[in-house]
Amino acid sequence: MERLQKIMAQAGVASRRKSEEIIKEGRVEVNGEVVTQLGAKVDPSQDKIKVDGEELELEKAVYILLNKPKDVITTVDDPQGRKTVVDMIDVKQRIYPVGRLDYDTEGLLLLTNDGDVTYALTHPSHQVGKKYIATVEGTPSENALERLEAGVELADGLTAPAQADLVVEMGTQSILSLEVHEGRKHQVKRMCEKVGHPVKELKRIKVGPLNLDEELKPGEYRHLTAEEVAKLQ
Ligand code: URA
Repeated sequence: MERLQKIMAQAGVASRRKSEEIIKEGRVEVNGEVVTQLGAKVDPSQDKIKVDGEELELEKAVYILLNKPKDVITTVDDPQGRKTVVDMIDVKQRIYPVGRLDYDTEGLLLLTNDGDVTYALTHPSHQVGKKYIATVEGTPSENALERLEAGVELADGLTAPAQADLVVEMGTQSILSLEVHEGRKHQVKRMCEKVGHPVKELKRIKVGPLNLDEELKPGEYRHLTAEEVAKLQ
């Protein structure tokens, strides 16, 4: 059994909050009875739910963890016909990527039809941590790492505090781990460039409570476990 407003949000009626309003307005029927109580629970596999007289098409919530490979675009459709992350996944529900990775970035990308989870992971006010492994030019000094952590002045303003660690030095390049709590476009690349260490390769290994498993090769995906889904609620 699930809360009515959650099922409505999953079916794409409106956000959970807006669905509550719709319930209070008396626009929702469950098995022929108008329901205006917010605590009402329904069984999506049994109950017939109508909003403004129209029956909902209920979909099961689906959560896919993809290890996005390079050279795939993070959208649902690409006008230029390039391969998208959604093309890589074989599920019958319509799913959407949660946030974005650049065309040439690899790593953890969640795809789901659960709008509430998308909102919780991407709304700037939630400051969800996203951890990256970046191969950069040169070897960042202590000072460069401190600048990445304290905030770097980019064209769209100062970045929020981050965690930056040097993982390996490899002569002309090195590997950094960087955890940020914002989701600005090309953020990691712009931060590293700004402190003098352009990114050569980028991989995301963590988003909020989700980690990329080592067994998933680029291009492979799996469904989240029930424990992982519970951590997102
Ligand atoms: N920061 C970037 O620069 N690129 C990504 O794909 C993700 C974060």
